[in-house]
Amino acid sequence: MGGAAPVASWESLMVTIAVTAEGQGEPRVAVSPETVKKLTALGASVRVQQGAGSRSRFSDEAFKAAGATVNADAAGTLEGADILLKVRRPSLGEVGALKRGAIVAAMLAPFDDRPGLEALAGAGAALMSMEFMPRITRTQSMDVLSSQANLAGYKAVVDAAAMFGQAMPMMMTAAGTVPAAKVFIMGVGVAGLQAIATARRLGAIVSATDVRPATKEQVASLGAKFIAVEDEEFKQAQTAAGYAKPMSPEYQKKQAELVANHIKGQDIVITTALIPGRPAPKLITAAMIESMRPGSVIVDLAAERGGNTELTQPDKVVEHKGVSIAGPLNLAGEVPVNASALYAKNLFAFLETMFDKKDKVLKVNWDDEIIKGTLVAKDGRIVHPSLQQQGA
Ligand code: NAD
Repeated sequence: MGGAAPVASWESLMVTIAVTAEGQGEPRVAVSPETVKKLTALGASVRVQQGAGSRSRFSDEAFKAAGATVNADAAGTLEGADILLKVRRPSLGEVGALKRGAIVAAMLAPFDDRPGLEALAGAGAALMSMEFMPRITRTQSMDVLSSQANLAGYKAVVDAAAMFGQAMPMMMTAAGTVPAAKVFIMGVGVAGLQAIATARRLGAIVSATDVRPATKEQVASLGAKFIAVEDEEFKQAQTAAGYAKPMSPEYQKKQAELVANHIKGQDIVITTALIPGRPAPKLITAAMIESMRPGSVIVDLAAERGGNTELTQPDKVVEHKGVSIAGPLNLAGEVPVNASALYAKNLFAFLETMFDKKDKVLKVNWDDEIIKGTLVAKDGRIVHPSLQQQGA
């Protein structure tokens, strides 16, 4: 049949996808047996490094049964591959082992370690950062921030419940009544909504706050109480992209008063407040923490970006006057079986758009907004608009 000729010579060959094991601190993996099967059906051959899925309970046998080749080491997995799929940013050595001009898709943390990113770009691969996926209807199935934040919101509540030396639901027993725990969620994006739902399922009395007016109804629909400073600034606090704006010092002052009054009576606080490209807003002061009852628990999901409390320390649980403040950095990774399965599906949905299903070859449309949106580097250079001004 005419009209379907491959654009470049390598596009006519079978596409090889490599998946290597992540580093020590990352239990997730970029493919699941389910997505290996789907990638194989697209016409790709998938190579997985031995043991890469073990921390997500995906065995080498399961990968083989799904159609993958399991290689004993990273070198054999990577050699001459067309595509590398990772959870975290790969090493220069890994990218250098691929075919020149290969595609790399991962959570590249593109704003971190600029020299490292430039070195990686220099290897000539097309680097695609999954965090940059445009949030449009078509990409919902590719949205790694949502799939992982959802699990993080769930795990934050489960961890807080475990750290809290009391029960979550109200229990009326012959020996007396156990009161329901009071849980306060600050920041009601993807993680916050799941945190509300999880805390409600555990029987807690839940309240939540955000600066975006759209969240008011969402909080109510989950059976939680919404509290916020609802002034004129609040009405304008959402950007066209659906994110929060940084709030004025006047708003922050009013918000702090509201939070100070509310937080005193709370047992568990989960904070998730973020503003794209900025440090996390400080919503909880040391004095507010001191006003809480000993035994109360705060889980701060914004720890990676500086934290929502004054006392948060990344990757640590700080105890301050009887209140525990946890600053976990990879909560989704602590539910690795689900996190990997969903992340792998996100990657598959993205890769699927790059394949010609009829001819079973790779045909990347470099003008597609999802390719342009995620493409961090190509042909040796950093190309993403939001990374240009940073001294490139
Ligand atoms: P995020 O991680 O950027 O922030 C978490 C929450 O913190 C947000 O709700 C934000 O409003 C809130 N916040 C920021 N500053 C605050 C402050 N000072 N006080 C209190 N709260 C504050 O958000 P996210 O989870 O990525 O979600 C952002 C938006 O994107 C939401 O509207 C979400 O529904 C939307 N979204 C859209 C799609 C899609 O259309 N495909 C997919 C996922 C999410």
